[in-house]
Amino acid sequence: MTDYGKIAQQVMSRCDELGKISQSDEYLDRRYLTAEHKQANELVGGWMAQAGMKTWQDEAGNLCGRLESKTPNAPRYLIGSHLDTVPNGGKYDGMLGVITPICLIQELTDQGFELPFHLDLVGFGDEEGTRFRSTLLGSRALTGKWPEEWRKVEDSDGVSLPDALKAFGLDFDKVKHAAIDNRNLLGYLELHIEQGPVLEDENLPVGVVSAIAGAKRFDLSVKGMAGHAGTVPMPLRQDALCAVSEMILAVEKVAQEHGIVATVGEINNRPNGVNVISGYTQFSLDIRSEFDEKRDAGLAKIMSDIEMIAARRNVILEAKQTHAAPSVHCDPALQTVLRNAIEHTGHRVLTLPSGAGHDAMAIADICPVAMLFMRCDKGISHNPAEAIMERDVVVTLEVLDHAIQNL
Ligand SMILES: [Zn+2]
Repeated sequence: MTDYGKIAQQVMSRCDELGKISQSDEYLDRRYLTAEHKQANELVGGWMAQAGMKTWQDEAGNLCGRLESKTPNAPRYLIGSHLDTVPNGGKYDGMLGVITPICLIQELTDQGFELPFHLDLVGFGDEEGTRFRSTLLGSRALTGKWPEEWRKVEDSDGVSLPDALKAFGLDFDKVKHAAIDNRNLLGYLELHIEQGPVLEDENLPVGVVSAIAGAKRFDLSVKGMAGHAGTVPMPLRQDALCAVSEMILAVEKVAQEHGIVATVGEINNRPNGVNVISGYTQFSLDIRSEFDEKRDAGLAKIMSDIEMIAARRNVILEAKQTHAAPSVHCDPALQTVLRNAIEHTGHRVLTLPSGAGHDAMAIADICPVAMLFMRCDKGISHNPAEAIMERDVVVTLEVLDHAIQNL
């Protein structure tokens, strides 16, 4: 009889231990190809080896471990998440999805359990993209899709990606060898904290991800006419900030009506003076949905609404797209495996989309993917206040155990 409670304790204490490896003295910050990345790989690699896995580091600095099957020519499944963090981040985002499977695999090894496939666990070196401002560097190396232009990206200290790889003992030209042969690859599973409040709101420990939302981002600006706050009568104004205020509310309204999420999170106003009518306001738009068509329909409505606002207020609107990623749908068969596993634990099954990006997005290029979300406190992440409950880890372990044995 597996003692999931005892394993969950180990998961919690290992998350604490790994969460202490940081390039900052004040908060958790562990970025790609740093000394702390190396230290994390060594610590976690040690746990993998202890759990009976064969371990190695790939050409992109990802930490890999394999629970080998004795079946000749066995196919393989991948499981994993990332080991990097954002600056001032939490200790569960990413790490939970590496540590939990290791502790579970330790149990499988101890019980002498035989799998008919190799189970490869990956701790990705970069998901957050905080060092080089490009996300998913680790998982994209596995798909063989590192664009040539990444040769030129630099961190905030001016260190190029090839130089950072070299300092880590790696070689940009050899990263292509991290690409994995997907002929025998049956699928990828990722466990991650939800990073949102839905599971907590539903009073559930875990949920199955239906799809990872595709995002589009825009830089928008409105040009009006700056003027004296005392002398220009209201009907004669071309107030850029007032126009943008109306546009932001339109974004919110359309998002609500279309069942998507849209956010204006950044705003810059000029001249930004207490007695000056705003002449120029720049703002961001981030729009997401698990369904690209739904997102694009909402986007079209937003654009036509804000163009109408600009025309009515006699200001000039400019829009530039800065990012576009399609949504990724999780594999129906793998989702069923996770749903059955949750049912087996006696919990209600909830399927929900992921609004945040994950390594599974990149891996979907080479095999079917599925994700299990675990509840986190108030949905908080990318924050030292990120927290989970040990009793949810107990359920997660049981779900993963059941899922792995029924793949
Ligand atoms: Zn993450």
